[in-house]
Amino acid sequence: MCFDFNLLYDIQLLNSPVYVLLPNGHVLTVTQFGTVNLTETFSISNVFFVPQFKHNLLSVPKLCRDTKGLVQFSETTCFLQAPSLSSPLVLGDLLKGLYLLNPNKLFSVTVDSFSYCNSIVSLKLWHTRLGHLPLYKLKQLNVFTGAHDCSIDDCSVCPKARHHNLPFASSSISSSQMFDLIHIDRWGPYRSTTFDGYKYFLTRVDDFTRTTWTHLLTTKGNAFPILQGFIEMVETQFSTKMKRVRSDNAFELGSGVHHAEYFKQKGIIH
Ligand SMILES: [Zn+2]
Repeated sequence: MCFDFNLLYDIQLLNSPVYVLLPNGHVLTVTQFGTVNLTETFSISNVFFVPQFKHNLLSVPKLCRDTKGLVQFSETTCFLQAPSLSSPLVLGDLLKGLYLLNPNKLFSVTVDSFSYCNSIVSLKLWHTRLGHLPLYKLKQLNVFTGAHDCSIDDCSVCPKARHHNLPFASSSISSSQMFDLIHIDRWGPYRSTTFDGYKYFLTRVDDFTRTTWTHLLTTKGNAFPILQGFIEMVETQFSTKMKRVRSDNAFELGSGVHHAEYFKQKGIIH
């Protein structure tokens, strides 16, 4: 539909009026139609003349039907490919969310300029199609030589593909200095003992620094005396006091009565 009478030629009267329903509920009566030149060599016929309109509207289904062609929309442009066209025809550029059909800007592009235009709008698409080919390799291909100002930095797949592991979760460290919190655990028995009779081990992990101490054990019952020795060692060597101890509540790691009494004396929260 066209509102500009000057753009139309071969204007004819319709045999019977056509009614156009507007989004605001108003109905317009169309009585004339004509032909509009989109380029010097390409025109569309049966265009309704609607002087009340403020914009010229191009019906994509009608265009496809009339030309037996294909209308494609990219990030920046809309263009038509049809058997009657020797090269794709840019119909309009994207402006504020709409593809703006501007007869003054319509032009028939050459194959070279089409390649250039297409390379810019779809460099990222080709990056994906070619197995996430790096940008410098893409630019070595002739069709992409014009795409200097394009970037594939925002590709979300490439960085993930180069990772061997998924990123670690955010730190959950709740302590503010060394020996604020110690995680303790006893592991074993292992199916075979060491040559000198050990088959358990005790680990102590400092929550703040993640420093780990490991001690081999012959029996489970040795775990708490070793823990006591560790607490004493911290006080002597580091001139600080352990504040909290966290375990899986195993009996040998502080759940017994005398263990609880020891922690209480030391002021350690278990
Ligand atoms: Zn990529």
